[in-house]
Amino acid sequence: MNASTANQIYFRQAADELDLSDTMRSLLLTAKREVQVQVAAELDSGAVATFIGYRVQHNDARGPLKGGLRYHPEVDLDEVRSLAALMTWKTAVVNIPYGGAKGGIALDPATLSTRELERVTRSFVDAIHDLFGPDVDIPAPDMGTSAEVMAWIMNQYGKYRGFAPACVTGKPVEYHGIPGREEATGRGVGIVTLKLLSRLGRAIQGTTVAIQGFGNVGTHTAKFLRDAECRVVAISDASGGYHRADGIDVLEALRYAREHRGRLEGFVGGDRISNVELLALDCDVLIPAALGGVLTAANAEAVQAPIIVEAANSPVTPEADIVFAQKNVTVLPDILANAGGVTASWFEWVQNRQHYQWGVNRVRQELDRILGEAFEQVWQLSSSRQVSLRTAAYMLGVGRVARATVLGGIT
Ligand code: NAD
Repeated sequence: MNASTANQIYFRQAADELDLSDTMRSLLLTAKREVQVQVAAELDSGAVATFIGYRVQHNDARGPLKGGLRYHPEVDLDEVRSLAALMTWKTAVVNIPYGGAKGGIALDPATLSTRELERVTRSFVDAIHDLFGPDVDIPAPDMGTSAEVMAWIMNQYGKYRGFAPACVTGKPVEYHGIPGREEATGRGVGIVTLKLLSRLGRAIQGTTVAIQGFGNVGTHTAKFLRDAECRVVAISDASGGYHRADGIDVLEALRYAREHRGRLEGFVGGDRISNVELLALDCDVLIPAALGGVLTAANAEAVQAPIIVEAANSPVTPEADIVFAQKNVTVLPDILANAGGVTASWFEWVQNRQHYQWGVNRVRQELDRILGEAFEQVWQLSSSRQVSLRTAAYMLGVGRVARATVLGGIT
């Protein structure tokens, strides 16, 4: 099953509960615009490489389009389309005034030098500068892209339109970004994990957690939960996993990764396990924070954790979701669990537009408030309608977009 078909299954479950008309369903399922462009750039060798870039603008009924930019070899139109729709529901779940979009370039950033990546990024902006901007569509980081990439985007966009820091978020703090944005997705994952534990009547202290992925989201999630006195028993990245029943020394792992170009390869603070073994570990909370589609019908039965928090986008396939429901595993869905990043992106955009700066404490307080409210609304809806947290989150998000579509009018 491809990624967009999978997300449409979740959409339909919510649309049935909301009793949406067929007209509204097709309006909400069809992307407003899908663009594929040639991205040509000179390599350090002098040769010219050609890549394919995508931007899918799914829905802007609630505000300007918003969504990340992914650099990964497996990026294709279907994946970007599915991630764009997820952004529409995500911004609506946390009730921030945006629609949903996503973009990407099919490339492996590890094979390019920094200068080559910069030329690729600027070439992509040259191809799509008419399609994005502060009031239109605002990109942000995702897998394989960073604050530095966002700085190049702002700079290149400025060559066409002049100074416009709000055209992209997730920028470096020293270049019109804000403190608290980089940590926000992982911090948000941590915030809603604690709220879920407390709603389920479980103690926080000593809760055992396994985290797949040790990039932006995985590292900040690990740090936040460690600070909250949870026990992070396993971490992993593309090089494999590391397990320690007494708890991984998260600060040591962070230090190690920082000193090794962000990678855990060679880390000795835990026994080596595979990423497959990590997903099946005996722990309280499993947090996939790397790729999509990692929990499937083939491995869902083996999962022992009673709670799964979707820090990555779409890590649980619909088939696995059914198995988890049968096993009584609580799944906190991506459109709520990882919404902290886009929420802090909104704070960055607001400050860029006002040419004003908040302190990091205000960013954290506002993040906590917005995610807390969204979590409670999803929890209440799930209880009152006797549906899963995923269906409740989709009902909240899809319902808000449908309402805005009616209020704004269609033509
Ligand atoms: P990242 O590029 O910073 O880190 C990705 C991590 O996953 C790395 O540690 C990498 O080694 C690891 N990884 C890659 N392939 C793997 C594999 N096969 N098995 C195990 N680990 C593997 O990316 P990120 O920004 O942390 O994003 C992670 C996930 O979170 C993605 O699904 C992304 O869409 C989602 N997300 C990110 C943000 C954000 O603000 N960065 C916001 C919302 C959702």
